[in-house]
Amino acid sequence: MRILLVGAPGSGKGTQAQLLSLSLGLTHISSGDLLRDHVARRTALGRRVRSYVARGDLVPDAIVMDMLRKPVIKAVQRGGYILDGFPRTVEQALAAYGTARELGAAVQVAVHLDVPSAELVRRLLARGRGTDDTDDIIEHRLDVYQDRTLPMLDYYAQREQLVRVDAAAPIGKVHQAVLSQLEPVRRMLQESTT
Ligand code: AMP
Repeated sequence: MRILLVGAPGSGKGTQAQLLSLSLGLTHISSGDLLRDHVARRTALGRRVRSYVARGDLVPDAIVMDMLRKPVIKAVQRGGYILDGFPRTVEQALAAYGTARELGAAVQVAVHLDVPSAELVRRLLARGRGTDDTDDIIEHRLDVYQDRTLPMLDYYAQREQLVRVDAAAPIGKVHQAVLSQLEPVRRMLQESTT
């Protein structure tokens, strides 16, 4: 199964992606983790993206897409992926679909982890990761999410590939809710391939 997790900073997207990857035996691919790893290792790519990540701005599409191509193809060969953090704009969703469709690698279902913004701010301030979680940058990352990522949900809704989960609940409950919402999708996909 090929799943995209969509959620604001502070929505628990990374945690839910890890839990899902364990429950469903799918490869977890986080664009944010891969980018932070390049920055930490000071690779050529890391040096190009460092200032974007530090500001909470989106890294240019071509860089993210090049970085993800190989891991995505590998994950598809192994049965599927949980994509966490990519695509995150309508433009990325369209471009990714364009290249992934022929490879049988396109997203089959997008899961929106929906958390009210007051709760997001509370969680992010409590977390205070240090590097990109100062008050101003938190606010900026939430603005970028609202302006660029939320419109992408309409794209998946129009394709009838969107599932919404109330993600203000505790971690375990959210995970169970995601699993139960995905079950009918999984069955439907299975029927359509048999
Ligand atoms: P995340 O951990 O998903 O919140 O991502 C952390 C940071 O990495 C973001 O604030 C962006 O600077 C960058 N980033 C992650 N994914 C993408 C993407 N799909 N497109 C552009 N920038 C991204």
